[in-house]
Amino acid sequence: MDKQVRMEIRRQTGTRKIPEKTKKPEGPEYSMSFVCFNCKTSNMRHFNRPPCDYPDVISCPICKEDSFNLGRNFKPPKKSDSMQWKKIKYLVSHGFLFQKIRVVPGSYDSIPYPETLSEAKDFVVNYGKWAIKRLRKE
Ligand SMILES: [Zn+2]
Repeated sequence: MDKQVRMEIRRQTGTRKIPEKTKKPEGPEYSMSFVCFNCKTSNMRHFNRPPCDYPDVISCPICKEDSFNLGRNFKPPKKSDSMQWKKIKYLVSHGFLFQKIRVVPGSYDSIPYPETLSEAKDFVVNYGKWAIKRLRKE
């Protein structure tokens, strides 16, 4: 793309009104999965605020224990898969709520989360710098 074309695009987009739907970060696509380790369930929740202001912890609607915001793409394991639940609980208790871990500045590549509990133990050591130190309660 040459410079003139780029400038033309910039000029056009600068004067165009931003469509309503791209302005508000709301709606079901901004629902996050809140997971309770006591019930071994996950519930999608939506809040009327930008996703970056969502709480990390809310109380479980069923048992009132802590329920953790593990993001939009979290898929809970089967209730019977206790090793997977153990691994996820371990990660969360060490400040890993499935946030993206990007070790290369400016890159969108993120470190994949561990598959097993023993991998999770190395993971929390290796990426401790990226752990969330203080969870925000609702
Ligand atoms: Zn619960």
